[in-house]
Amino acid sequence: MNSYLPQFDTVDEARRHRKERLAAAFRLFGRFGFDEGVAGHITARDPELLDHFWVNPFGMSFSHIRVSDLILVNDKGEVVQGDAAVNAAAFAIHSQIHAARPDVIAAAHSHSIYGKSWSALGRLLDPLTQDVCAFYEDHALFDDYTGVVLDLEEGKRIAHALGDHKAAILRNHGLLTVGHSVDEAAWWFITMERSCQAQLLAEAAGTPVLIEEDSARLTSKQVGSHVAGWFGFQPLYAKITREQPDLFD
Ligand SMILES: [Zn+2]
Repeated sequence: MNSYLPQFDTVDEARRHRKERLAAAFRLFGRFGFDEGVAGHITARDPELLDHFWVNPFGMSFSHIRVSDLILVNDKGEVVQGDAAVNAAAFAIHSQIHAARPDVIAAAHSHSIYGKSWSALGRLLDPLTQDVCAFYEDHALFDDYTGVVLDLEEGKRIAHALGDHKAAILRNHGLLTVGHSVDEAAWWFITMERSCQAQLLAEAAGTPVLIEEDSARLTSKQVGSHVAGWFGFQPLYAKITREQPDLFD
């Protein structure tokens, strides 16, 4: 039981809460410039229909998404609530991650600039900063690229590469993060993107000093827990909902 997460009496309240967090996460991704045309998706597992997930309507700006715009997709990739289409890549990747990882409530992926730049190097992130230690021994490299992910087998391979980690670097593509809450998955994405930026900057400027293994492992426990990931999102949620309350519509 994740006791830090708000508890609800009804499934409708739980669903509403999850969708609000999801809409807010999209607004933040828009604010941070994580969108690249129509690419990118964040999914939230439905609290009742556990093989269904909520996702952004294909082709809508992250910066415009409201709770009422979110669509519900079933395990066959059919939109069962909402009248927009689902991005085929969103279904191919996210359905397989949600299926392989029952603990995962939400998954985030976009073509953010530093994440995709870093992904082209085909390397894991090094423990260069306190913040990136959240991913120490807890992220994977999907060391392959064969075109836009449209078939379920490719999604399965990505889920397999992710394993039980919180994040994966998809080579030549971008970042993918997961969490026990929408808040957590979104926060890991935001801080991982910035960690890619930090490592690119540090390596461009010189030869970075790495945090020692024991210290990196200790720090990963301190900043990389599920509750830490959830908590990291809270100030951003407060900010975006105050500035853009129409996201609740
Ligand atoms: Zn993609």
